[in-house]
Amino acid sequence: MGSNEQTYVDEAFKTNWIAPLGPNVNLFEDAIQNYINNDVHVAALSAGTAAIHLALEILGVSHGDEVLCQSLTFSASANPIKYLGADPIFVDSERDTWNISPELLEKAIKDRIAKGKKPKAIVAVHLYGMPYKVSEVQAVADKYGIPVIEDSAEALGSTYNGLKCGSFGEIGILSFNGNKIITTSGGGALVTKNEDHKKKAVFLATQARDEAPHYQHSHVGYNYRMSNVLAGIGRGQIEVLDDRVAARRSNFEFYKASLGHLEEIEFLSEPNGYFSNRWLSCILTTSYEMRERIRYALLEDDIESRPLWKPMHMQPIFKTSPNYSDGTSEDLFDRGLCLPSGSNLEKRDLERIVALIIKELTK
Ligand SMILES: *Cc1c(COP(=O)(O)O)cnc(C)c1O
Repeated sequence: MGSNEQTYVDEAFKTNWIAPLGPNVNLFEDAIQNYINNDVHVAALSAGTAAIHLALEILGVSHGDEVLCQSLTFSASANPIKYLGADPIFVDSERDTWNISPELLEKAIKDRIAKGKKPKAIVAVHLYGMPYKVSEVQAVADKYGIPVIEDSAEALGSTYNGLKCGSFGEIGILSFNGNKIITTSGGGALVTKNEDHKKKAVFLATQARDEAPHYQHSHVGYNYRMSNVLAGIGRGQIEVLDDRVAARRSNFEFYKASLGHLEEIEFLSEPNGYFSNRWLSCILTTSYEMRERIRYALLEDDIESRPLWKPMHMQPIFKTSPNYSDGTSEDLFDRGLCLPSGSNLEKRDLERIVALIIKELTK
């Protein structure tokens, strides 16, 4: 936590706004809007997953529809497609950003259209904080008239050509889950330039109550609004977001400066115009065996590191879903490792991690 979260939470208690609405919710939305850019409208929600669910629904996705989704991601990017009875179609990554490949995306769209169905939406992800190829992906999306849901759950604070992530899709989503760069313990947001999308999101997130003195419903609704208590935490967290980005980037820079000379280890650099919040510091090793050697060397000293996200097209739950893969995400999954990346890591922690890796590689 930063320094003001407790103050804002206390305000919720003092004013007795212990509800999924209230001044903190509105002020948190304003703060996010201010941070991203003032053209956007923000709906604070109970989770990033809820935001993706609502985004899909607002874009008209329903039973039997197809939705294109980056395969190399966390399962929460894809699960909401299933909530709606729609079918995810997975698309592999390119090597410059590890995100959805514009070429494979176009190939997938053409093939799905040829097979009789035009996909309803595209879920593209800024993985580990690195922006996807926004212009190239948007060009493909525009060519076929398919809206993009920008999964920016890991990329708050990242920018592409100077503009903040979260502002590029027809709808963007953010997460404030406990593991993200800033947190409300659990929480998320839907971000959009279209004010009607925001209104629809708030309507659906608050049980879809029609305007009437009694309880009247003509849509299925959800209980997805953010708590006013948690929004108090969010107000404090957004004040320290830039500090968190600086801390995460400095972790990455330390790892790169200390390990970059080793031929067994590669780092993903920022293409021109890309700025990553470096939510997690990841490395690519030379092989699966090498990655496991490093992972176990750290584990022996009680340090946790983790393989990259396992691609969705390799997951048992999605094994029957179509996928357009060229082996890139499988290779990244085999050889990639997320190193300890917390904003509160101290220099001696980083030095200890680096020393263990160097020791293992020079054995
Ligand atoms: C965390 C995450 C989500 C889901 O956000 P929650 O707030 O945890 O529901 C979605 N997509 C990606 C890529 C994530 O990392």
